[in-house]
Amino acid sequence: MEKNIKQKVQDQDYLSISEALAIIRANIPRASINECSLEAGIGRYLAADVVAPEPSPRYTSSAMDGYGVRWQDVLAATPEAPVALKIVGESQAGAQFNGVVGEKEAIRISTGAVLASGCDSVVRVEDTVEEGDQVFIKTIKAQGQDVRYLGEEFSTGEVLLHRGIRLTAAGAALLTSVGVARVSVFQPCEVALLITGSELVAVGEDIAEDQIRDSNMIMLKAAIEDAGGKVVHCIRVSDDEDVTQKAIAKTRADIILCSGGISVGRHDHVKKAALDSGYIPLFWRIWQKPGKPLYFARKDEKLLFGLPGNPVSAFMCFIHYVRPLISSLNGLPFGWPMVSAEALEHMKNNGKRPNMMRVKLQWRTNSGHCIRHAAKQGSHMLTSLTHADGYIILEPGQEIQAGERIDVFHYDFLREPV
Ligand code: AMP
Ligand code: MG
Repeated sequence: MEKNIKQKVQDQDYLSISEALAIIRANIPRASINECSLEAGIGRYLAADVVAPEPSPRYTSSAMDGYGVRWQDVLAATPEAPVALKIVGESQAGAQFNGVVGEKEAIRISTGAVLASGCDSVVRVEDTVEEGDQVFIKTIKAQGQDVRYLGEEFSTGEVLLHRGIRLTAAGAALLTSVGVARVSVFQPCEVALLITGSELVAVGEDIAEDQIRDSNMIMLKAAIEDAGGKVVHCIRVSDDEDVTQKAIAKTRADIILCSGGISVGRHDHVKKAALDSGYIPLFWRIWQKPGKPLYFARKDEKLLFGLPGNPVSAFMCFIHYVRPLISSLNGLPFGWPMVSAEALEHMKNNGKRPNMMRVKLQWRTNSGHCIRHAAKQGSHMLTSLTHADGYIILEPGQEIQAGERIDVFHYDFLREPV
């Protein structure tokens, strides 16, 4: 394959979208896994199923503050003819009643406290009157009411969280509740961001008429983290060959993501700088719109992407090519969140290249997901992203009629467990 790929680079030929994806897939580094505390694991992806070491609830308990009773003693109770029971003790959360509740007896019980032996039902405080050492039960609906049974939520050995799921606050609480303190997680891949462009200034800095605010840095940083990667280094470099080469050479990360400087302009230095730093080019330029100049290279286990500088192209290339790679390093399939949607209007690709056409999704009660074409699609127009929820890919000349269904690549990282 490598001969083939080099030829593509030398011929200055274009790859198809699927050829480019196949090359990325063939170069995915091995995912690394480590064990950590739950706290450190929050936000990371589980590398193994987590199985319940004990059932939940761990013991049969009360769901209400009230009285633990025996159903056969009180089944005839009514507000007009309440049944009197003798209070023989109390079961509190953390301090259970150790005796046995006998005929015509009851115990006071708190929510979550162990149901004493002999009792089979709980009557909430509101349905009782306490007088001296007696309680009058005014009503009971069913045997077993307001009892939480041992194991009714799950049993020992059930899978609580599947591999590939991102550990959330609620997930960490669940594992803590059953005594799991450590988890095996995918180590997030380390990504360095190298933003090229002598015209760029940071937001908040003074800006001259011919300068541009660097919007790619914040966008890519957020997108990398959202995809489950970790940004370890983030710098801006001017359009200078030497500066770019030195920056690439000294950057330590699993993936270097460059922005800008990969076209055919006199000030585009990323390809040469990557080559001089020992990276082997795997592809350059894809027959697509936007994002034509995407560049991909490898040095041992390290990968480098050269994203186009245009913010829209940079984002689209990230979502279509880089995000699936980061996902796969978190144990997920190399792929995209897809939604099938009905076109609400005629859409056609009048261009020469496959078009990643940005679309706005909406939900209609009868048709489910529907799409409209997002108005302005220029690769310099960031509103083409903010006014859209995803994109469809149309081949040159391809059209879809209103009412037809098509697969939409969703921007949001809606994740399915594997
Ligand atoms: P380049 O790919 O470097 O030729 O850049 C293409 C276009 O995108 C130029 O108009 C740049 O000014 C613009 N651009 C490049 N990098 C950024 C960035 N980080 N933020 C916003 N615009 C950028
Ligand atoms: Mg540039």
